[in-house]
Amino acid sequence: KERTVVTPVKDNNHQLVLKGCRQNNLKNVNVTIPKEKLTVITGVSGSGKSSLAFDTIYAEGKRRYLDNMSNAAKMQEQIEKPDFDTIQGLTPTIAIEQKKGSQNPRSTVGTLTGILDHLRMLYVAIGIPHCPYCGVPVQKDSKSKNRCPVCGSLFQGLTASTFNANAHVGACHTCNGLGILYEVNPDTIVVNGDLSVLDGATSYFGKLRGKKPTGNWMLGELYAIAADMNVDLDLPWNDLPNEFRQAVFYGTGDKIYSFKYNSGGRDTEINRPAAGAVSHIQRLFRESKSNDNPQKEYMREIPCPTCHGELLCYEARYTTIMGYRLPELTKMPIDKLWNWVCNLQELLSDNQKSKAEEVLLEIQNRIVNLLQVGLPYLTLSRTAPTLSGGELQRVRLSSQLGSELIGLTYILDEPSIGLHPRDHHLMIDTIKHLRDKGNTVIVVEHDKDTMLNADYIVDVGPGAGTFGGEIVAAGTVNEIMKNTLSATGRFLSNSKICEPENTINPHKWMTLNGCTGNNLKNINVRFPLHTMCCITGVSGSGKSSLIFGTLIPALNKVINHQRCIDSSYLSFEGYEDIDGFVQMDQSPVGKSSRSTPATYIGVFDTIRSVFAKQPRAYELGLSESHFSFNSKDGGCPVCEGQGQIKVAFQYMADTYVTCPECKGSRYQEGVLEVLYKGKSIADVLHMDVSEAILLFEDVKEIVQKLSLMDEVGLPYLKLGQSTATLSGGEAQRLKLAKELSGKQKRHMVYILDEPTTGLHFQDIEKLLLIFRKLVDAGHSLYIIEHNTEIIGASDWIIDIGPEGGNAGGQVVAEGSPEKIKRNPASVTGKYL
Ligand code: ADP
Ligand code: ADP
Ligand code: ZN
Ligand code: ZN
Repeated sequence: KERTVVTPVKDNNHQLVLKGCRQNNLKNVNVTIPKEKLTVITGVSGSGKSSLAFDTIYAEGKRRYLDNMSNAAKMQEQIEKPDFDTIQGLTPTIAIEQKKGSQNPRSTVGTLTGILDHLRMLYVAIGIPHCPYCGVPVQKDSKSKNRCPVCGSLFQGLTASTFNANAHVGACHTCNGLGILYEVNPDTIVVNGDLSVLDGATSYFGKLRGKKPTGNWMLGELYAIAADMNVDLDLPWNDLPNEFRQAVFYGTGDKIYSFKYNSGGRDTEINRPAAGAVSHIQRLFRESKSNDNPQKEYMREIPCPTCHGELLCYEARYTTIMGYRLPELTKMPIDKLWNWVCNLQELLSDNQKSKAEEVLLEIQNRIVNLLQVGLPYLTLSRTAPTLSGGELQRVRLSSQLGSELIGLTYILDEPSIGLHPRDHHLMIDTIKHLRDKGNTVIVVEHDKDTMLNADYIVDVGPGAGTFGGEIVAAGTVNEIMKNTLSATGRFLSNSKICEPENTINPHKWMTLNGCTGNNLKNINVRFPLHTMCCITGVSGSGKSSLIFGTLIPALNKVINHQRCIDSSYLSFEGYEDIDGFVQMDQSPVGKSSRSTPATYIGVFDTIRSVFAKQPRAYELGLSESHFSFNSKDGGCPVCEGQGQIKVAFQYMADTYVTCPECKGSRYQEGVLEVLYKGKSIADVLHMDVSEAILLFEDVKEIVQKLSLMDEVGLPYLKLGQSTATLSGGEAQRLKLAKELSGKQKRHMVYILDEPTTGLHFQDIEKLLLIFRKLVDAGHSLYIIEHNTEIIGASDWIIDIGPEGGNAGGQVVAEGSPEKIKRNPASVTGKYL
């Protein structure tokens, strides 16, 4: 392969020069990064790559941008400057991260890429509106109004808002652009039909025995209907006449009842038809402004009967181009949409061309960008929360490709995540394209191909946390490969990591039959037990649909006896000797921002009890609870134990500043007087795992739990770091450590999603050892993975494909890595 090798010029204008960087674990380092080039920052997990790329370069870029906004000076004082001496040559900085955070459920691939905006303009320019009743194109009448020539129905004029479900005029009139309606589900009203209404058969009326029969107005109605129909409310609900039960739910039509109820403390009498519980609940639900109103438990979601989930008003739904309606285009996979747009371009008349050519070009450019980043199988209507972290990052990346801005500094976080080796070159080409437009591109990455394609490599290390934070090597690929000090260099020049030898031939299986979720083609899949099994395939082939969409619900059903409403498989066999399963995905750990690695794996309780046992704690009368920053006893009252206070800025995400009361320690002063080996509890929370192991070397229980965090590749995590700040990969490895520290059942199933995310090849060796330990202990592992080292070291591979989206969803190959290597049908095999 040919590589362009670029040596950075010694001119400050062409370089980003960082001096004296000390953020987090960085050891006062100097770094020079060539501008308008592709630089990879690499190193073991926790070595300080993000501290350099995101916490220093990006953070400073953001701060300087703020500097240019009016009124921003004061805010800027409040935002801490990253810890460095000087940075020269920094241009405006854009970070494209993996972290999903909370995604707006209304944002879609179409809105994120801007393609939807342009399609709307296209429909305004050349769309042909049709009458929803007669199906014929509407025409301008003598008053220049859009009118159906057959039935005379009026059509509103088309503007971009007409095609926007988030705009008032564009939203479906029935569902307001939500695509669903809430209706009362009468099944939820009766909770136990074996009871009588008086004894609480319905949650709606509750228990009535012993209560005044005129409590509220609905109750008066209930008694009046019962009296009229001569029904004994003492009988079980299920034994009451159907006619009565229907009347309680749906009312009695026009028949007028006279009943009593209590209003404002006074008994009142009213004459009116009985409305029934359903309409009453419906009305309360409609009138309620609050999001968690008590009626919600009686409601179910139904697809909007008007727009059938297309969200748009009828004008938008009945306007076509080449016979296609906008909602049809947004449901097309991107590669099909590309064909459609190209066809359209051929067929346009000169008049249409003049109206639409520019918009069409914009649409084409943006589609090409999506294809470039390997997402041909996505549709514009896919919502952001349903995309994986990698997919979301690539969608964002693609939208940057369309940007006209140049001279920016882009910082990307492991863009290879979620990509099959086959698709890496597409991503790399994309990044190079961004560079060639005149931007500086900095990529935090472990992937070998990306490094081989980089102009410059910065190797951070040598270890993690306090054992890292130095620049081990920096230079071109060739220079790094020749550097004997750089572990990355050795990896680049000879590659293979050592694989465990003791692989296993599977002999027991569990089987899922008739899987049809998302793109799965009614397939039967067998999963080996007591082995390490990898699920492979190109992005969008159906790996998640099989594992997260099918296997996990199936296990939930048989092991946790969870009700499964509409399952996407026919049958499930061979699970009988499984005692439990754990899904270790990349979702955040800990519910609150107060969760830390120490609290999460349960080591903090022991640490607190160590502090409570110190003599000074006795003198001050402090107990274990005082050493919890989450307690009123010990936590700082100003920041409530957070150590930070949130400040909201316009135009910017919320930013945190150090609490002025406790100076970030999280604790009240007295608590900090208690020391263990010279360290306060706040000092301990600022330590990383490897430091804490040394401090508590005499306390076996603490060392045991912390060592597991070390083993899973997290020796650099600070005990008190909020778990909300962890990357997806880190969160997953923390879950693994917690799982290993708990009492394990006999046969556990572990399900992992790209566990190598964020891991350098040295970390991967460690992780493989843990996987082997788990298999040796009799457990079963299922790992969705693209990393060829992990796949090659597994016992069994289930290769899904052959392609993404509708062209996937089949089992292409299964077997040991050796067998897959020799299987010509398997794309994965070629890369092993
Ligand atoms: P990498 O990106 O190489 O995996 P990081 O730069 O994230 O490593 O972390 C390097 C060190 O800095 C680790 O010891 C980590 O715990 C610490 N660190 C990272 N972020 C923070 C933070 N926000 N506050 C304190 N320490 C941090
Ligand atoms: P993989 O995990 O192999 O990348 P997925 O199982 O995520 O693949 O996707 C398989 C197919 O199912 C793709 O066409 C994808 O767009 C589609 N898909 C995945 N999740 C959803 C969802 N929540 N809604 C609709 N389609 C989905
Ligand atoms: Zn609707
Ligand atoms: Zn405080």
